[in-house]
Amino acid sequence: MTLPKIRHVRAFTVRGGGADYHDQGAGHWIDDHIATPMARYPEYRQSRQSFGINVLGTLVVELEADDGTIGFAVTTGGEPAAFIVERHLARFLEGRSPVDVEKIWDQMYFSTQYYGRKGLVVNAISGVDLALWDLLGKLRGEPVYHMLGGAVRDELTFYATGARPDVAKELGFVGGKLPLHHGPAEGIEGLHKNIAALADMRSGVGDDFWLMLDCWMSLDLDYATRLAARAWDECGLKWIEEALSPDDYWGYADLKRNVPPGLLVTTGEHEATRWGFRMLMEMDCCDIIQPDVGWCGGITELIKIANYADARGVQVIPHGSSVYSYHFVITRHNSPFAEFLMMHPGPTEVVPMFAPQLLGELVPVNGRIRASELDQPGFGVELNRDIPLHRPYTH
Ligand SMILES: [Mg+2]
Repeated sequence: MTLPKIRHVRAFTVRGGGADYHDQGAGHWIDDHIATPMARYPEYRQSRQSFGINVLGTLVVELEADDGTIGFAVTTGGEPAAFIVERHLARFLEGRSPVDVEKIWDQMYFSTQYYGRKGLVVNAISGVDLALWDLLGKLRGEPVYHMLGGAVRDELTFYATGARPDVAKELGFVGGKLPLHHGPAEGIEGLHKNIAALADMRSGVGDDFWLMLDCWMSLDLDYATRLAARAWDECGLKWIEEALSPDDYWGYADLKRNVPPGLLVTTGEHEATRWGFRMLMEMDCCDIIQPDVGWCGGITELIKIANYADARGVQVIPHGSSVYSYHFVITRHNSPFAEFLMMHPGPTEVVPMFAPQLLGELVPVNGRIRASELDQPGFGVELNRDIPLHRPYTH
């Protein structure tokens, strides 16, 4: 069976939400005094946009085959990632067969290793890899999850990330993950406020609803240990997420030893590749790894990360990632549920995670998406061409 070859690679940037979900307007919950490593500077404490969290914007990668079929994907990385895709990575795709997924990934990674390995470069590689899986699915007429081995459950079950777990419970989610608002620079008073906010939410959702805390790399080991102990004792916290810098593997290993038995330590949304996640797992840094499918190296690399996690008994609950996560999670027993980012500003309604960039993007109803809803070729979405696309580089 011969598939058409890849004829052309194009990279675009887009502003205004979507895959760069931090690129939101004023008053959104996602930019309201959330604890960050930059909060040690008072002038950057109130808004993450003030230190540039949304400077990159969304990257769109489009792969066109000889027969005119187009596969695409969105991730973050904006203009610098568009440069990398057009001027460096495109050479490994044009004129090649889209079935050569492993070889293309290997060439993209090792040709950029001297300036890449993580971060922006792996975001760009991930975007290309996801576009390649989308193209392959569209050429074969198969959803990506079929190519990954098929569904192991009839439906996806979601927890919701956002400032209103009480609303998430009403909407049918199994749990809610709150952003932490105060970091170590705000002292004991900030710690009391963090616990009070969590206790308030616990009283609103009852005893059995999952509550989690996302700390977005903002804490030190001592603060994280004290926060975890109180949040477990006083509020029944399920997990503490990304408490420390992603570079501090030693700190995570200590934190996992320090927290009360039963409280889970999670991290990994800013980790990348099989080698980064191997470090997290071999150093026993966490109970759950949270690779972002658009940042960790794409589906091709996530397969390797998740297989290693499965053998070690570690759960893989991808960060955000919308349809790119759904098609993977439904195929894995060690990914028993998924994250849904509540991108409504309130957030009081369910809206598509990467709105307005994808057409046909599924949303959970009553906290669930049925496997059969994923039965569209590729990732089952189309690029919304009504929004302005900018192509900063060509080749
Ligand atoms: Mg997080």
